[in-house]
Amino acid sequence: ATSANPVDVDKFLVEKLLAPEPEMAAARRRAHEAGLPHIEVSEMQGKFLMLLTQIAGAKRVLEIGTLGGYSTTWLARGVGPEGHVTTCEYEPLHARVAADNLAASGVEDRVEIRIGAALDTLDSLLAEDGEPFDLFFIDADKENNAHYIDLAIMLGRPGSVIVVDNVVREGAVLEEGDPLTDAGRLVNGVRRGIDVLGSNPRVDATALQTVGVKGWDGFAVGIIR
Ligand code: SAM
Repeated sequence: ATSANPVDVDKFLVEKLLAPEPEMAAARRRAHEAGLPHIEVSEMQGKFLMLLTQIAGAKRVLEIGTLGGYSTTWLARGVGPEGHVTTCEYEPLHARVAADNLAASGVEDRVEIRIGAALDTLDSLLAEDGEPFDLFFIDADKENNAHYIDLAIMLGRPGSVIVVDNVVREGAVLEEGDPLTDAGRLVNGVRRGIDVLGSNPRVDATALQTVGVKGWDGFAVGIIR
């Protein structure tokens, strides 16, 4: 038996696997000082997103849920200087903090922050009929996960990757939530998203449970067929 716990293991892994990142730490600090909630991905998850972007060879990424631009920065690093990240955020304050953080990390040239409800932004992107996106990171209002996944399938191409965050929620995903509460609607949104990933023939997905500084949660990863 060991007295180790997942948080200590996360710290150990960060120490071993992450180069010191003063810019990334400053970005988190700026977001917290501006009063943004502490709901960004962990350091290990952020680096995972960067590596996944690189493994997929993704050059065009669409993120739903910017917050202070923490995950956005990792994705922007992943696409490299020739790549592009479009990120959706409806809180102007979050978008402002994110813009500052992206500039401080030197990746602002490859990121566009679209301010507004993400469903509207995705509709506009469909209407603009641009190049398909290679990778999607869905991390906003979970109530709309199913819509975001459906729209991602339309905005992607065969081979594009869809990542959906927070699909386990301390196990809450197992039970239908009370639609009269925020928490219930949220978990029902997560469940509907998983249903789409499992039933839409255009996507093939898996999900991994995670522990660590963010508690017990998980993410789904799918590929568009
Ligand atoms: N991906 C970020 C990271 O890891 O650094 C965290 C994103 S945070 C969990 C979710 C963000 O989505 C919040 O900033 C919130 O304001 C935004 N959001 C929620 N609902 C939205 C919507 N319908 N349209 C656009 N943004 C939304």
